[in-house]
Order: sequence, then structure tokens, then C-alpha cells
Amino acid sequence: MIIYFEVDPKMGKVRLQALYNRCCSNYKLNVSTNWCDIMNRDNNLGDMPAEEFRRYGYEIVDRIADYFEQIESFPVLSQIEPNWLKQNLPGNAPASGDDFGEVLHDIDRLIFPAVTHWNHPNFHGLFSTSASSVGIFGEMFSAAFDMKAMLWRTSPASTELEDVVLDWLRQMLGLPAKFEGIIYDTASVSTMHAIAAARERIGLNIRELGMSGRNDLPLLRVYCSEHVHSSIDKACITLGLGIQSLRKIECNDRFEMIPEKLAEAIEEDTEAGYLPICVIPTIGTTSTSSIDPVDAVADICAKYGIWLHVDAAYAGSAAVVPEMQPMFSGWERADSIVINPHKWLFTPFDLSVLYCRDLGELKKAFSLVPEYLRTSDESGIKNGMDYGIQLGRRFRALKLWMVIRYFGSEGLASRIREHCRLARTFASWVEASPDFQMMAPVPFALVCFRACPSGVDDLDSLNETMMNEVNASGQAYLSHTKLNGTFTMRLSVGSIRVEERHLEKVWNILKESLQKNVS
Ligand code: PLP
Repeated sequence: MIIYFEVDPKMGKVRLQALYNRCCSNYKLNVSTNWCDIMNRDNNLGDMPAEEFRRYGYEIVDRIADYFEQIESFPVLSQIEPNWLKQNLPGNAPASGDDFGEVLHDIDRLIFPAVTHWNHPNFHGLFSTSASSVGIFGEMFSAAFDMKAMLWRTSPASTELEDVVLDWLRQMLGLPAKFEGIIYDTASVSTMHAIAAARERIGLNIRELGMSGRNDLPLLRVYCSEHVHSSIDKACITLGLGIQSLRKIECNDRFEMIPEKLAEAIEEDTEAGYLPICVIPTIGTTSTSSIDPVDAVADICAKYGIWLHVDAAYAGSAAVVPEMQPMFSGWERADSIVINPHKWLFTPFDLSVLYCRDLGELKKAFSLVPEYLRTSDESGIKNGMDYGIQLGRRFRALKLWMVIRYFGSEGLASRIREHCRLARTFASWVEASPDFQMMAPVPFALVCFRACPSGVDDLDSLNETMMNEVNASGQAYLSHTKLNGTFTMRLSVGSIRVEERHLEKVWNILKESLQKNVS
């Protein structure tokens, strides 16, 4: 129940509250400009009143707009000490709800200092990802609908929009029409589902009989390059294949899988009585963004009848740039492909797409319909729950649809094209400097480099110190990898807000740090 009172605005909230505490303490006051709504919280029923939601909603949008406008004033990496936030939060939940204005105040006071700003244009660590404003609107609507896209009837909007938007994206990526997609949260989960479908295809009825307590199962093998993302190892752990099932294939000096080594490994394993089930080349590896030779790998998979899953979690989005599509040659021959719009398509985390040549194979591995989920809906409809371990699924397609509609395929392509240009520009500064060197090619928008001034014995320590200094400055965030045992800095360009001046800033900080550490 809400009761509205006209009050004297000069009275102030504190005096008003005191007055009401004396009269009827079971009412909670919410004061706006010159009137208040009183919500009987003793009933503990109902939601925030619509008027209050509207007021705070406008305020939150204003705050987010201010945040984006002022984002460069924040340190990229949170500067708090571990456990600072925990120590500053009460150990118990409030018994009666807090005033929402105070909650917002605590966002400023407690949450902001503990945020590492992934949306900052100088976030160059890991892979630089960012949320566009329209993507955030998508999240707002999706939370408001709160649908669990398990059955078509529980979520026609999500089910049908997912099909439509993934088909738009497929066309933008230049993939053949036979590929159908399904949205999961992350690439780790997409890949795990792909390997599960590959395992089901070998016909050993693992879905039914499992893998334990069986002596009729050979060692199953999954192949990938030595630069594969750890999500593949984790998928093997999760699926009960075990890490021993994963065979990592040697790479060339460009960090690309050597297909001859893959063929040799498969021959060797087959002779030993093992069963190859899946090969996973990566387009855009995590350490260097190298590109495994998918076409050659596809030939090998075709020869031995092995499921081909392409991990394009990072770089897949770059296929929306028409002139970059040749870099993806061979992925159209895959059984499955993962790409993450939440990495490089300006879609807020999380949204990963698994495209399958035959989505029915995924359904075969996962569909299971208990009585309480059976419906009389006509055939021809799709129930999202049939394609994975999740029952309820978030309405993620909405934000991707909004992003694609707002920017258009050309707008998305031009932003990614610009990121690649900026990365090459940074690489050209590295190449032109006698004190720095490139450590890997730059096929997309990731630069692997290090300082290499003459007269320094321990270059690894120097580079680590420099990277830590950049990160401690709050001005930018870089991360690292090791290539052939050598400490290597990684600078990823991918923020929707990044401009050349941001890279100039990092380059200047690096040069200053080098000067300080070698003089
Ligand atoms: N594959 C590659 C090539 C990646 O670079 C990453 C993450 O950076 C992943 C998979 C895992 O992505 P996610 O966090 O969506 O599970």
C-alpha cells in the first residue's frame, strides 16, 4: 500500500522520519521533492513502487552515462587491498530493507573503488572487451522480462529472436546457411557442449552408460595446439575424459599448430588403440592471437572422421569485417564453432555462441524431457533446454539484437577494423624502437612485445617490473604471457571507447618506465 502526502519540502527527511517514528513506526518513508510515499514495509509484500522505480531508474541511467563520460578519471585496475570491500560491508543482511538511496550511495562509496574498469579505453589486458550502451539497455529489458528460455512457450520472444539474430550474425560472419547457433554464457561452456556432442557421435553410448566402470572404452583423444585456452582442458575434466585425453600438438614459430604433427599424433594414437574424437584448432589463440591452419586441420578431420570444433572465441567477431574473412578459411568445414560476442562485439558479458553444422547432434547428446516439461506445442518449435545442460536460459539474444540493430554490420566492422589498425600502429612504434621488440605477429588486435634494451641481463624481470608499474599507475592495464619461456607483455585493443591517444599514453608510460629502470 502506498499513501501519498503533501508535505512542506522545508521539513526535510530527517524531521519527517522522526515524526513518523513517533506516530507509527511500522511505516517507512521515501521522500521525493515535495511529497513522500509511505510504504508499509511491515507487510513485507510487493515490489518497489513504480514511482520509486522510475525515479531511481532515471538516476541510475544518469549515473551510468556520467560513468562512461568520466571513465578515464578512474584507475583502470582497482586500487583496493584484498578484503577491503569485505571488511567494509556488514556481515549480516538488513532485516528490514534499507533506503534505496543509501544503497546507491554505497555503490559510490564501496563498490566503485573495488571495480576494475573493463570498460576503460586503457584496459588492454587479457582480451580488451567492452559493453556498448545499447547492450546495457538489452540487459535492462532482459532482466525486466526475467524469462527462463527453456521451452518455446515459456519464452517465444527469446527462442525466436535467438534464431533470427544468430542467423543474422552467421551471415555477417560469412558462414554457410547450414550452421545453426545456440547461445550459452561463455566459450568454456560452448566448447564443453561441442566436445560432449563429439563424444556422443562416436556411438559408444556414453550418454546412457557413462564412462566409469566400463572396460570396453579405449582412451578417447581430443587434440589442440600447445597454445590452446585452458577452457579445453577444463572441458575434458568436466566430461570425465580427464586431462590425459588431451593431446597438445606442437606449433611453428608463429605459434600455429603444425598439421603434420597433428596427423602423426592421430596415427600414433590410433595404432595404440586410442580413439580420436575431436580436434580443436583456434583462430585467435589467447597468448598471441595466432591462427591455426584450419583448412589443413579440416582435411585431417575429414580423413579420419573426427569432429572439428573451431575455437574462435576471441577473433570470431573479426569475421564481420569482409576483408578479414580469408583469415577464417576452413572454419566453414567445421562441425562446430564458438565465438564470443561478449569479447569483441560490444555486447555486455555474457554471451557466447556455439554454431553447429547439425544442431541435432547437440540435441541428441542433451535432450531429456521430464513429464513436467512436456508440452503439446506443435512440432517445428525449438525448446532451448534441449541443447545443453541448462534448463532455464537468460534472454541474451535481446542485447545482441540491439547491438547489431544499432551499429549495423558496417558499424561493427568499422570499429573492429579500427582496433586492428590501432594495434598495428602500436606494433609499428615497437618495431621502430631499438629498445623494444615484437614477440609475435599481429593478425588481429593483440600486440605481444617486450623491452630489450642492451646491457640488461635479466630482461624477464625488467619486463615484469615495467608491466607492474604501468598497472600500478592506474593509467592502463597490460597483461603478460610466456612465449618460448620468455616473459612477454600483451596489449589488446578492443574497447569501443579506445582511440589512438590511449595507445600513445601507454607507449609513453612504457618508455618512461624503461628509462627509470635502466638508468
Ligand atoms: N577460447 C579462447 C581462445 C579464449 O581466449 C578464451 C578467453 O579468453 C576462452 C576460450 C574462454 O572464454 P570464456 O571466458 O567465454 O569462457
